[in-house]
Amino acid sequence: MPVAHKTRNLSAVGSYARDLAAVATALASWYKEERHRYAFRVGRTPYRTWITEIFLQQTQIAAAQTKLAEFLARFPDVASLAHGPERDVLAAFRGMGYYSRARNMFRAAKVILQKHGGAMPVTYAALVKIPGIGHYTAAIISSIHNNEKILALDANHARVLSRLAAIDAVPGRTAFKRAVEDTAKVFFESAMPPGDTNEALMQWGQTICKKTPRCAECFAQTHCAAFQKKCVSTYPRAKKRETFIDVQWVLGIARKGATYQVFQATHDFPFLRGELLFPGYVDAMRHGTQATVPQRIPPKKRQQLEEMAGTQPVAFRHAITRHRISVKLVATAVLPGGEFFNLRELRERCHSSFMQKVIAHLDSLEDLTNAS
Ligand code: SF4
Repeated sequence: MPVAHKTRNLSAVGSYARDLAAVATALASWYKEERHRYAFRVGRTPYRTWITEIFLQQTQIAAAQTKLAEFLARFPDVASLAHGPERDVLAAFRGMGYYSRARNMFRAAKVILQKHGGAMPVTYAALVKIPGIGHYTAAIISSIHNNEKILALDANHARVLSRLAAIDAVPGRTAFKRAVEDTAKVFFESAMPPGDTNEALMQWGQTICKKTPRCAECFAQTHCAAFQKKCVSTYPRAKKRETFIDVQWVLGIARKGATYQVFQATHDFPFLRGELLFPGYVDAMRHGTQATVPQRIPPKKRQQLEEMAGTQPVAFRHAITRHRISVKLVATAVLPGGEFFNLRELRERCHSSFMQKVIAHLDSLEDLTNAS
């Protein structure tokens, strides 16, 4: 009989471990037959595994495969990635999620080139010291390429293991992480290599123990605590509901001839740091957060933008993490500093989906100030 994680007692520990050992054996046989044979898993190297994981973190496999192959053809190793240039790295990553991931990848490649002579490290300890490589990526690389028995905890692992052992802790909490890692130990002790264990658990969550689970087809049914307790749908336990932050972002569109003025967002700006943005301000009304691009926008200019924004409709809405952003565009005169680019150059240099949306709206903005 399965025993729920929280209610385990000493006398039950033996049978619980035996249950999980039986599930681990069943998982190994299932995975032998069913494993996904993706093209990107052929001829794996630590570098290719790293890049693949970054591509797949925010994008469905089917959508990422072509871009991933193109990226690896353009940047086949650490040295080529470290030499970029950054603009090419970002362009090759377009459409694959947040650009901060591509920037981190680029910076990490420079560190690997400098500190490891361009050879991708494979130990967990060395990988997590590289800026931009976190626990998940280090665990995947080290389990596949160095046989380290470390759970690369993602949403699939969390779902499967929390149901299997009826873990009552809430995802995101330390207690939850400890409980799933504890449950995963028996899988890492099975005959499967650690990298396969991580990927088998993931595929189990993707294909059988999905949000709406297919328990009737599951090889673990008789040992699954949540299934036996008839409360599968209550695991993983619900997180506290996320609260959204409403933000108004006013952008001043300043033209000089056929070019538009942009500034690089500094590190104290809450969104898209390092990206080229049109000047303006963000105002998170209820949270009191305010910031401008450029950082020191003249107070008179800020006041003008506010007055003009008051009469403008919202051009479009956009979401960044927990922020629901209402965007307004207003024509304005040029500010001191910044850089000027025409539309074609802007499309190439501004990589975020936010700026691509703004650029698409420029045509509809009437009465642009030509302040040349
Ligand atoms: S029996 Fe159902 S809930 Fe339990 S592991 Fe299998 S699919 Fe998931």
